[in-house]
Amino acid sequence: MSKLAALPSVEKLAAALAPEVGLPRPLVNLFVRREIDRYRQLLLADGEHTREEIEASTKKGLREFANSRLQPVINATGVLIHTNLGRSPLGPRAASSLQKIATGYSNLEFDLPSGARGKRAGYLETALACLLETEAATAVNNCAAALVLTLRTLVAEGKNEVIVSRSELVEIGGGFRIPEILETSGAKLVEVGATNKTHLYDYEKAITPQTALILKVHRSNFYIDGFIGEPEITEIAKLAHDHGLPLVEDLGSGAMMNTDELAPIEHEPTPQECLRRGIDLVIFSGDKLLGGPQSGIIGGRADMIAEIKKEPFFRAVRCDKLILTTLQESIDQYLETKADPTQADVPVLKFLRTSTEDLRTRAETILKDLPTEQTEITIEETLARPGGGTMPRSEFPSIALKLVPKNQSVPKLAKKLRLGTPAIVGYTTDAALFLDLRTIFPETDSEVKTAIKTALS
Ligand SMILES: *Cc1c(COP(=O)(O)O)cnc(C)c1O
Repeated sequence: MSKLAALPSVEKLAAALAPEVGLPRPLVNLFVRREIDRYRQLLLADGEHTREEIEASTKKGLREFANSRLQPVINATGVLIHTNLGRSPLGPRAASSLQKIATGYSNLEFDLPSGARGKRAGYLETALACLLETEAATAVNNCAAALVLTLRTLVAEGKNEVIVSRSELVEIGGGFRIPEILETSGAKLVEVGATNKTHLYDYEKAITPQTALILKVHRSNFYIDGFIGEPEITEIAKLAHDHGLPLVEDLGSGAMMNTDELAPIEHEPTPQECLRRGIDLVIFSGDKLLGGPQSGIIGGRADMIAEIKKEPFFRAVRCDKLILTTLQESIDQYLETKADPTQADVPVLKFLRTSTEDLRTRAETILKDLPTEQTEITIEETLARPGGGTMPRSEFPSIALKLVPKNQSVPKLAKKLRLGTPAIVGYTTDAALFLDLRTIFPETDSEVKTAIKTALS
């Protein structure tokens, strides 16, 4: 039993570590207690651990735990919509509305003219329908919820078959797989076609009295090439409508402008063009290319949107006021810049259209008087990517600082920057760390410079 004498006291160790990590004291106590319990088990199982080792390892673990707290990060990866780094940042206008609505009362469900109870999101729904040039629209928590909700609404007992092409049974990431989403929604998947080719007659043959709808899923995060083919949307729409069936498309990213006009990248289908081609309901995320808050938008036929809003599950996935106000600002902005949507004040769109000359000038300013004795720093031409499961084929020119450390390893330097203030996340190759300028907000350039200086010293 004497081995247990190596265990420090929870109280004393917690008291010593708390000031350093700046976390609430009960959380530090909990963390330290768990670590010491873990070491107690290890010691009882005949392990050998000294008190110094236990204290040092607890301290390291606690620091890492403190780092897991949600905090701002400088995205130097060159991936615009980085799922791990929070997808799209909000623009200044959405952010200031968030501040106002979050910290006060609002007319969330209150009708100011009559003084009576009002409808939630009435303005937003009209604005969305206007932007999408369609009959009606609504928004829920995220795109996955929007799809589940739509399927639940449109399938019924005895009429629950959903036809999907085998080339669209995709995994989006983070546990989102079309076959599983269908199952959760009470739908029965009817796969048609082959991985590379689906014909109109494949869809046609699959239609039975039990068919509820035809679903199209945008291949957001991969592409197929070679001997491929699929019917035009207009043809599938005609087939669906001839059989009295709805055609629904899960579009994913929700670009509101022609992406190929902003940067040398692919054209991402817009909800407007899908609806024009005959899709009855289109579903997409609010926080990918649209650049709003996390949300899932459904737009299209008014009768179907009305049904969706009556489905009890709608209540479980509805947006709160923080999403509603930021989405409202994002949508209003697009409406105001409708003539030229590329002018919307949306950070990801700004990043997309920044010229490499601008990026180079900023890189030169950051590079100026950085200590280069121990680390070789150069400005390199690189490639940025849209990310977030959009436009998987598109890489476009960018500029990065390339850091080649002489006195420490590349992973070590990368880690120092990730654990710095602010945290900076770049990407590494065997020999170098790259900090891509395209996804760095220009107003944080001086902070980036200071953080690099600190990491190099
Ligand atoms: C991203 C994506 C989703 C998931 O969207 P969330 O907003 O994360 O729920 C669903 N479908 C497609 C096609 C997507 O690209």
